[in-house]
Amino acid sequence: MLPDINVVTREDLVRLTMSHRLRLNRKLSQHFVIEPLVIKDIINHVPVNSRVLEIGTGIGILTFYLASVASQVVTIEIDGRLVKIAGHVLNGLGNVSIIQGDALRVPWPQTNIVVSNVPYSITSPLIMRIIRERVPGALLTIQREVANRLAGEPGSDYYGRLSIVTQCNYVISILNTYPPDYFYPNPDVYSSLVLMVRKEPCYGDIKTLESVTNLLFRHRNRVLRWVLGKYLGSDSINAAIKVGININVRVRQLTVNELVSLTEALRPYIIGNGK
Ligand code: SAM
Repeated sequence: MLPDINVVTREDLVRLTMSHRLRLNRKLSQHFVIEPLVIKDIINHVPVNSRVLEIGTGIGILTFYLASVASQVVTIEIDGRLVKIAGHVLNGLGNVSIIQGDALRVPWPQTNIVVSNVPYSITSPLIMRIIRERVPGALLTIQREVANRLAGEPGSDYYGRLSIVTQCNYVISILNTYPPDYFYPNPDVYSSLVLMVRKEPCYGDIKTLESVTNLLFRHRNRVLRWVLGKYLGSDSINAAIKVGININVRVRQLTVNELVSLTEALRPYIIGNGK
């Protein structure tokens, strides 16, 4: 049974920040959840008794509810002032430990799922770290636009480097979308909750796949033949044709599977390029 989800209100947070003389730092995306639905959506997708790694503790409200379903929660927060407040909020919970540090740098413990109302400034590097660490699952509240990019289909405006590398390793679902006033202080944009479930990777050498997509997507609207010719020379065009790629499509139309075949074919040309 979950404890009642009776989230701290906007007024509570105003009082709390004033009593701690806390100036919230927009650069660190210090926008705290104040809408119970967000917490319910997240908790409903955290496997019971799992080991959770939370990124961005804030004042520890989401952490508190995570601790009610998880066997263990490790939570990382960069701002020492918030670590102190969260320490009070989470006091007495035996299955929570707080680490003060930069979540992009500190070593991560073994975990079943990463959960985060993601600090916007670290969204892409955090997703890349989740992929590289082969975390089994992730539940991330991120900018709606980035969520659309993660789930982007070939040919769409959202489809690009992030979509390809993520979809190669994870099944992506957008679970819900929230308006700015579900958080305090309000961010400028809508946020979406995204579930990432690890799958058999489409390609083992993620670095080379990244290099190829980085190179090609510099000109996402150009025809593949033109981009290959410009950066890798005419032999690379022949290598692409050999593995059955239509070189007359636009780069943004290439599917993840086609990009995998291309990466394999372009390996000799790409080493040393775009890395
Ligand atoms: N989890 C809380 C919630 O849902 O209300 C807070 C979420 S708030 C959007 C993001 C939090 O991440 C802030 O508390 C911020 O200080 C912290 N943060 C920002 N950059 C960070 C980083 N590189 N490593 C760890 N925490 C970070």
